[in-house]
Amino acid sequence: MTVNLLDFDLEGLTAFCEQLGEKRFRAVQLFRWIHQKGASRFDEMTDLAKSLREKLPSVCTITPLPVLSRQDSADGTIKWLFDVGDGNAVETVFIPEDDRGTLCVSSQAGCAVGCRFCSTGHQGFSRNLSTGEILAQLWYAEHFLRRHLNSPERVITNVVMMGMGEPLQNYGALLPALRTMLDDHAYGLSRRRLTVSTSGVVPFMDRLAQDCPVALAVSLHAPNDALRDSLVPLNRKYPIAELLDACLRYLPAAPRDFITFEYCMLDGVNDQPEHAQQLLDLVRRHGGRGVPCKINLIPFNPFPDSGLRCSPRAAVLRFGQVLNEGGVVTTVRKTRGDDIDAACGQLAGDVLDRTNAAKRLAQRRQTIEQPVRVVGRGPAPVKEGQA
Ligand code: SAH
Ligand code: SF4
Repeated sequence: MTVNLLDFDLEGLTAFCEQLGEKRFRAVQLFRWIHQKGASRFDEMTDLAKSLREKLPSVCTITPLPVLSRQDSADGTIKWLFDVGDGNAVETVFIPEDDRGTLCVSSQAGCAVGCRFCSTGHQGFSRNLSTGEILAQLWYAEHFLRRHLNSPERVITNVVMMGMGEPLQNYGALLPALRTMLDDHAYGLSRRRLTVSTSGVVPFMDRLAQDCPVALAVSLHAPNDALRDSLVPLNRKYPIAELLDACLRYLPAAPRDFITFEYCMLDGVNDQPEHAQQLLDLVRRHGGRGVPCKINLIPFNPFPDSGLRCSPRAAVLRFGQVLNEGGVVTTVRKTRGDDIDAACGQLAGDVLDRTNAAKRLAQRRQTIEQPVRVVGRGPAPVKEGQA
């Protein structure tokens, strides 16, 4: 089997080149060709020695993921469906804003955590993506967008690991992918513009703090264990107190001085004023001094058979106001790309089930809330990606 060079961070590529008798600077050249210039063929790499250019195709490839479809939303959001084989597909979403371009990347085909409100969770777990499959999403999207927008500059300025899957349950593949995203010879993202979102895999939050401390978003969704157990089954393994302890351990390494907590607003389930008060007490008092954080309220994006509804706008605003007035900066996430099923939690990658798309869209048009904006006296809505 030949090696796919998209599977390597620079260290891995250097080791691979050394096996071929090549020096480190050759690895840097190759890495730059692949990630900065989007090359997929070795004969384009004109500054590599001819002998190396001729040798490489017999030992390695640069293999992207096949694109099954691309959908463009009226708001500029773009969603790709990538084929990862065996009937599985994963989705990647680009969200343009005035001052940034965010790519929401998938880490697994399906997800084993099985959160009640998440379409990916309902789908079950198929398999982990490889480093190459995670990076192929960014590689493809960045170079497609540069051509599409005729941009000589980088188009993707932020990456959020908020697509399909639980990134910290695929740590081995995630780490080289994150390192490549940060590498100045590749995508050169800053650590604060790269966000890992987790449902709370505590041991790997600690590993991430040591190995590659990027911005961290934690999907909280409930202010007490009984409720969180029923929404995020992983809570039975790592309950809220342990999760918040892990947040406190993460913070000294983090590129920002706060953790982002995500909270999906579910009508009549976790959206009452008493839940807001409990959440406020939790984050302000945990461990004695509280957890420095911002809270991001995500209006639930419905999908068929979830049995759940999005909280009414008034409930979302009231909830946010309790938190803001209690001194915890809280924003409401804008819904983007919902006309192409690209909003948070709608990523199902159901390649075998495209015919349902129109039906789902019609249902959503009837049920979805208006996009909501600033809560209470909080700052402008968080612009940090969405999917
Ligand atoms: N597995 C990771 C990252 C992917 S999910 C995690 O859970 O954090 C990214 C975000 O979308 C999470 O905060 C998740 O809770 C949220 N989400 C999932 N389903 C949703 C839905 N139907 N509506 C709104 N947000 C949802
Ligand atoms: Fe998995 Fe995240 Fe969806 Fe939960 S919300 S099922 S952890 S992808």
